[in-house]
Amino acid sequence: MKTIERKSLLYKSGLGFYCINHVLGCAHGCLYPCYAYMMAKHYGRVATQAQWREPRLVGNALELLQKELARRKNRPAAVHLCLTTDPFMQGYPEVTDLSLRIVALLNAHGIAASLLTKGLLPAELADTERYGADNTCGISLVSLDEGFRKRWEPHAAPYRSRIAALQRLHRGGCRTLVHIEPYPTPNILEQDLAEILDAVAFVDDLYFSGWNYSPAVRKYADAAAFYREQAALVRRFCQRRGIRCDAEA
Ligand code: SF4
Repeated sequence: MKTIERKSLLYKSGLGFYCINHVLGCAHGCLYPCYAYMMAKHYGRVATQAQWREPRLVGNALELLQKELARRKNRPAAVHLCLTTDPFMQGYPEVTDLSLRIVALLNAHGIAASLLTKGLLPAELADTERYGADNTCGISLVSLDEGFRKRWEPHAAPYRSRIAALQRLHRGGCRTLVHIEPYPTPNILEQDLAEILDAVAFVDDLYFSGWNYSPAVRKYADAAAFYREQAALVRRFCQRRGIRCDAEA
């Protein structure tokens, strides 16, 4: 796998939380489109989708992180992996290996990791001897329909496998999260949100939001009302189950 060198790793995102992106590019090649890909293209870091799908590992990531943590007086309570790539992308065990090392390093400094993937969360994360117990293990999941996944997230892990990996960690005592975004309007895909929620009813945290940047969504007669209804459904579901909920209409 190709590598690049960076000058810094840990940063505070515009969303207000700390992040690490230790890979440039993402093999999953989502077509929503992927905001990270659009930004990388805009700033000239990659030229094409094919280049984006050939991830390059930050070769000096661990060394950088060690230095950055050592010199910080105020360490963040939590760090998110990742905003502009996927920490457990399919077909790249090197990425998974580096992500796990980064989590272990953060945890050794008393910092929790919040993880989000469209790949498979590794079972090792339940090993509390190596990793702290405060990490949050999350998957992105907007459907259970494999036809939809193949159209929009063609190289990401199948939905049921993602859920199975998450549930294994839940059973192992990990805090788990499902991130439902970007949720499609019915003109893109007819589906029952209740079925998706039932499939992940074991989680601790749930996030829901619409598909805000698709021209197809804007063609749907009343997308705003649809999203209000779906967000209310999510909130009711979470309330019944005692799941921490963040549902945007
Ligand atoms: S998994 Fe995330 S980073 Fe990777 S292509 Fe899809 S949206 Fe982009």
